[in-house]
Amino acid sequence: MDTILKTKNLCKYYGNGENEVKALQDVNIKIERGEFVAVVGKSGSGKSTLLHMLGGLDHPTDGKVYIGKKNIFSYKEDELAVFRRRKIGFIFQSFNLISSLNVWENIIFPISLDGKKIDEAFLKDIIQTLGLEKKLHNLPNTLSGGQQQRVAIARAIASKPEILLADEPTGNLDSKTSAEVMGMLKMSVEKYGQTLVMITHDEDIAQIADRILVIEDGKVAEFS
Ligand code: ADP
Ligand code: MG
Repeated sequence: MDTILKTKNLCKYYGNGENEVKALQDVNIKIERGEFVAVVGKSGSGKSTLLHMLGGLDHPTDGKVYIGKKNIFSYKEDELAVFRRRKIGFIFQSFNLISSLNVWENIIFPISLDGKKIDEAFLKDIIQTLGLEKKLHNLPNTLSGGQQQRVAIARAIASKPEILLADEPTGNLDSKTSAEVMGMLKMSVEKYGQTLVMITHDEDIAQIADRILVIEDGKVAEFS
């Protein structure tokens, strides 16, 4: 087995005293390279918190996150930012595109931040796969929700990250577009050999994952 992502007694508490919220409590999970793992649970159960910790977007109260053999919180903040940009692609429910940049500029934005060379052939392939070739000069606000989410997926995949973390990527889409976006996401993950951890409310979507993690009150309750 090739474990790419692992947590050890991961805890995240918000607030303190009477206001303390135990968003994650002693979470121990292991994700293998190439897996597609769905994370399900009620609203407020800790799903987004878990995803933020896995991607190093926020620090845990206690415990560790390993990507490969590296404890990611042993990096200094600026090193972690670079590591994150190179290793992880994020996809959010709200797309998080930059409104003043066109589709092409949004897609290459993380790569250009890194000063890396653009792999034109690879990008062309992604853009075709996601059906965005006619939209490259469009600004995000001229696109439908489904198209914007496809741009966000292209941006997340463009830097060839090993891990994709998605927080309800179809949460703002109608069911037909959701199915389409999911199909694209699953296909690109398979095609590019990536590992996908995806939060979803949608039982049907969770069913197409290799494995489902259920979170309840900050604990991973089921692990099948
Ligand atoms: P989910 O994504 O499953 O809906 P979250 O991870 O967003 O759940 O939240 C888990 C718990 O932590 C909730 O009780 C939520 O109110 C709380 N929480 C999340 N983020 C913060 C924060 N920044 N400050 C305080 N409490 C938070
Ligand atoms: Mg959430």
